[in-house]
Amino acid sequence: MYDVVVIGGGPAGSYVAYRLAGMGYGVVVLERKGRVGEQICCTGIIGQECVSSFAIDASVILRQVNSASLFSPSGRLLKLKRKETQACIVDRAALDVAIAGLARGKGAEYVLNSQVNSIEVRDDKVRVEASRWEERLNFEARAVVIATGFGSSLVDGLGLGRVSDFVTGAQAEVETSGVDEVEVYFGQELAPGFFAWLVPTSLPMARVGLLSRRNPGSYLRRLMSSLLAQGKIVSAEAEPSYGGIPLKPLPRTYGDRVVVVGDAAGQVKPTTGGGIYYGLLCADIAANSLQQGLEINDLSAKSLATYQREWRRKLGRELRIGYWARKFYERLNDKQIDRIFDIIESNGIVETLLEADDLSFDWHSGVVLRLLGHRAISKAMGAMKIPFRLGGRA
Ligand SMILES: Cc1cc2nc3c(=O)[nH]c(=O)nc-3n(C[C@H](O)[C@H](O)[C@H](O)COP(=O)(O)OP(=O)(O)OC[C@H]3O[C@@H](n4cnc5c(N)ncnc54)[C@H](O)[C@@H]3O)c2cc1C
Repeated sequence: MYDVVVIGGGPAGSYVAYRLAGMGYGVVVLERKGRVGEQICCTGIIGQECVSSFAIDASVILRQVNSASLFSPSGRLLKLKRKETQACIVDRAALDVAIAGLARGKGAEYVLNSQVNSIEVRDDKVRVEASRWEERLNFEARAVVIATGFGSSLVDGLGLGRVSDFVTGAQAEVETSGVDEVEVYFGQELAPGFFAWLVPTSLPMARVGLLSRRNPGSYLRRLMSSLLAQGKIVSAEAEPSYGGIPLKPLPRTYGDRVVVVGDAAGQVKPTTGGGIYYGLLCADIAANSLQQGLEINDLSAKSLATYQREWRRKLGRELRIGYWARKFYERLNDKQIDRIFDIIESNGIVETLLEADDLSFDWHSGVVLRLLGHRAISKAMGAMKIPFRLGGRA
């Protein structure tokens, strides 16, 4: 009998395991892959705030980033640059291994190659059943943490609802020819509703990818051909990998003896699809709520509701405004996106944003509201007949 079974050895699961094992609780992490960090589809950009808040080990950082070039559909360029490091590109597999190493160091056990098939919540414990090759494994614990990433069916039977909106990402490792800065490309023909990127890692290598609701693979191939023709990459042959990204949170992220964290709970920035930092923040909050419940031996849904209250207090506004901004962007056509680039450039908005304290890699609601509140932008929206009133709940 463990205190806590964690399902999933990604950043969110391993971070909860690290915190709880560090408090002296008996923790086991069940991971279906044969190795932590295996086969991950992720660009690995995290904000400097994440690096500092979670003391991310310098050994996993491939490069620091203080600038990015944003391209409109017709090729207009907006350059964002600050003196200080804004974000870091990490070796994502190494990051997962590092966090799992912290958890192991505090005594958490890892059982690899173990695919969890079912969770049974009883009055006095949870039973988790996993398969490891032909073998069937049963684990009992006082509570379970579901940190299975996007798209797991494990939450389905628990009455917590579903993630109701998501997008698919496609990404490939390519060799660049001299691109030494993050580039982001916008356009409905290029990445419908979303955006694409070229992110240099350890030169000459880079990650090229995009998010799209449909055919991400074929849009990515088209992008790679275009980047090849522009001389930005040396070959368009690389095989893409794919991953789903939730855009809205799970309606309920706790139940009797259960909490859900990370992508499994939809704790992702809807503006960019980045989920590492928010997942870690929520993992931290989950560990605190579980500790309180374990201490007083009350792991009821009522007791664990503090988890959802706390993470919503921290992220709720960001997720709501970010999701609204995402839906707003999805409705724009390429001409309108170009026009917005124009206005931002000709009204000195970039300079104002770069000086503002609320321009942050991880917190976007301030910038969204600032942009919409700008007279030139709201006037142009009116002229283009684009409704942009903020409303509704994420
Ligand atoms: C193309 C793309 C690019 C991205 N780029 C970025 C980026 O630059 N920055 C950023 O912050 N985020 C990025 N993300 C999102 C980021 O990858 C996720 O937010 C992050 O991995 C979520 O961490 P997690 O621990 O919640 O889940 P995961 O990392 O998905 O970990 C879940 C783990 O659970 C295991 N598992 C699943 N089901 C079971 C089961 N039944 N039994 C046992 N184990 C199970 C999986 O094998 C996996 O190891 C990107 C995503 C995509 C698709």
